[in-house]
Amino acid sequence: MERLRPPRAELADLVAYDAKDVRAEINLSANENPRNLPGEVLEKLADRVRFDIPFNRYPDPLATRLRELIAQANGLDAANVLVGNGGDEIILDIILAWGGPGRKLVDMPPTFAMYEIDARVTGTRVVEVPRNAEFEVDGEALMAAVADQDPDIVVISNPNNPTGTMTAETLLIELLNATDALVLVDEAYFEFSRQTMRPHMERHPNLAILRTFSKAFSLAGLRAGYLLAHADVVRELTKVRQPYSVNRFTQVAASLAFRERMVFEAGVRETMRNRDRLVHGLAEMSEVAVFPSEANFVLFRVEQAAAIWRDLLHDHSILVRDLSRTPGLEDCLRVTVGTEEEVDRFLQAMDEILARKHASRHFGVNATANRHLEQDR
Ligand SMILES: *Cc1c(COP(=O)(O)O)cnc(C)c1O
Repeated sequence: MERLRPPRAELADLVAYDAKDVRAEINLSANENPRNLPGEVLEKLADRVRFDIPFNRYPDPLATRLRELIAQANGLDAANVLVGNGGDEIILDIILAWGGPGRKLVDMPPTFAMYEIDARVTGTRVVEVPRNAEFEVDGEALMAAVADQDPDIVVISNPNNPTGTMTAETLLIELLNATDALVLVDEAYFEFSRQTMRPHMERHPNLAILRTFSKAFSLAGLRAGYLLAHADVVRELTKVRQPYSVNRFTQVAASLAFRERMVFEAGVRETMRNRDRLVHGLAEMSEVAVFPSEANFVLFRVEQAAAIWRDLLHDHSILVRDLSRTPGLEDCLRVTVGTEEEVDRFLQAMDEILARKHASRHFGVNATANRHLEQDR
């Protein structure tokens, strides 16, 4: 036959996740750690690769060594930990197990896009509880949605990507008291916010906490994340997950990084210092409204954000995330906290771009013409 049967109807208005492979000298678009693994960790990893990774053998499906390390550091048993091919895989596993046709997920946009994408891919209904103008969770609306809709999953990014906002612990506890839905608290930026719902796991078997090696641990290229949850949750997830999704190399590298996690502390502190400089620098620009952040990125609003995104890339080779077409984030850009030099170059580029825009508006001519005017004088 010269035809192709269409796939499931749910895919019809989905667009593939666009991880734009745009080249730039300074990439501040994906909330990665600007530094590669510390040299000492790299060297230990190189030794392990040379001497004791049997690449010809399938990996341990549950990454036992790594999950024991993680469990111990969090005062839990290995049965409370699941390792995935990035936090993203675990999000999908949770929605495969607790979502699906006839089931509902509460999402609080604007937030991390994967929750909604995975819900739609699996035919899970999405109940949206939009955040307010300051990007805080609307507590009343959330509790009303939980009461009226009786959802199966509630997912909350804390701090919230891409806004940087924290949700009050009291509200999360109120939520946990009100529902037996699986409540996924996504702590991908835990190492920066230093706040966790971990102490509430004993009382609430429906609380699951997601973490990742992609941000503070400099391992976005590796793909490793983990879940802290009740043993019953982990057991159900092992039924839907791909058994060999976390390969041998990843297990070794993530274990090394986790064991040496104190080494990353200096980088986290530096990132927090640079975040403050970035926030202050942006706050000094009268055209910019900057939102407070508890993570390694900063969201800001500026007129003609899409044009500024383009100027940053084309004139300064700096890539940030353009969110200006996301509902609720009109005219917003998100910039990852880079190294000190990257923050300086970004702030300087913003100054230049805004000054040029200001001048061209003032003179009522375009920027290029304006440069000629200045040269004439
Ligand atoms: C980065 C991130 C993750 C996980 O990313 P992985 O690279 O798949 O581990 C999960 N949630 C949020 C909100 C993130 O920003």
